[in-house]
Amino acid sequence: MHRNNSTRRKFLSDLSLTVGGSLLLPPLLSCGTKGTSVPATPGAKKLGVALVGLGGYSSGQLAPALQQTEDCALTGLVSGTPQKLADWSARYNIPPEACYNYQNFDSIRDNKDIDIVYVVLPISLHKEFTIRAAEAGKHVICEKPMALNAAECQQMIDACKSNNRLLSIGYRLHFEPFNKEAMRLGQQQVYGKIKTIQAENGFTWGGGNNSWRLKKSLAGGGGLMDMGVYAIQGARYTTGEEPVYVTAREEKTRPELFKEVDETVFFELEFGSGIKASCLSSYNKNVSRLRADAERGWFEISPAFYYEGQVGTTVDGPMRFDNRYFEQVAQMDDFAQCVRQNKRSRVSGEEGLKDMRVVDAIYRSLASGKREKIG
Ligand code: NAD
Repeated sequence: MHRNNSTRRKFLSDLSLTVGGSLLLPPLLSCGTKGTSVPATPGAKKLGVALVGLGGYSSGQLAPALQQTEDCALTGLVSGTPQKLADWSARYNIPPEACYNYQNFDSIRDNKDIDIVYVVLPISLHKEFTIRAAEAGKHVICEKPMALNAAECQQMIDACKSNNRLLSIGYRLHFEPFNKEAMRLGQQQVYGKIKTIQAENGFTWGGGNNSWRLKKSLAGGGGLMDMGVYAIQGARYTTGEEPVYVTAREEKTRPELFKEVDETVFFELEFGSGIKASCLSSYNKNVSRLRADAERGWFEISPAFYYEGQVGTTVDGPMRFDNRYFEQVAQMDDFAQCVRQNKRSRVSGEEGLKDMRVVDAIYRSLASGKREKIG
């Protein structure tokens, strides 16, 4: 679903002044946290992060990113598989007393070296582990999509609030240079008012028929939950506005595989100002694109939502940023700064809730066949 990041560390260690013989572009060219708006806190002890769920995203992206963060570090592990805990503990030098399973997870409250719990589990478990982490006194990052529906998101927000803990969602693209540029161009109306958005995200499913992503009870839905939230996010952060209505339509080419969940969903978001966003989420199309057409020009990122490899163009020519930027490093360091300063994250639980309100309305529209009000 995402490009494999196996070459990431090689890229980073290889990164010098040239790539393929040509000079890298100044000055936003930087990997890791350098060049971001998040300075490390000099002399301060790094905040400790425990990863809950040691699957693909934790092993491929988050654990490697936590080797490069300047303000936080991997200090705890949570898994249901003892062998995984043993392997990870040896690999990342995590003491056995900082390794937990899903049953004894709550005793994480006694571990002073863990400040932040990062929930990287199937979606149906996001709410439970976010609430348990907050009740154990830990700040929380929860992966996208935030939960099965908006009602669950609200419960997670409330639990973090009542325990006086910060909550953030794993929206890494808010820290990625090309997507940040789309936010600037759109929200500051650099090309005038935006008229239309196109936001599409999908891949062709090749993950067999046993994955939790195909089970409604665990995933809540299909491509819309997994890929569609990027399209919704893209439309929202490019316009800086909230959609009011949505009309959705579904297409299924492999009903035997996508028995319980959606394969491809087309949806049109209508914003109060008149902007329309044509969006797509899919487990059957390889696409990753964000485009805005405005009064005096346009801009487009394609691919837009991968871990790396973004290509951006505007009516004026190419966007020039580092497209091998390790956004998860910047994302986690930013949250560490939020915790230190007791400041709401720019990708707070409320952001996740807003997206899930849209997702809920899309599913209502698929069921009713009608345009539905969001929220
Ligand atoms: P994965 O299947 O690779 O890993 C999930 C982990 O959860 C596994 O280690 C599995 O053992 C564990 N698990 C615990 N209880 C389980 C259960 N009942 N059923 C199945 N697995 C169970 O998934 P992933 O790709 O790592 O995704 C995890 C979360 O991260 C999801 O919410 C996903 O949307 C999110 N994610 C985000 C990004 C991003 O770019 N922000 C990328 C990939 C995944």
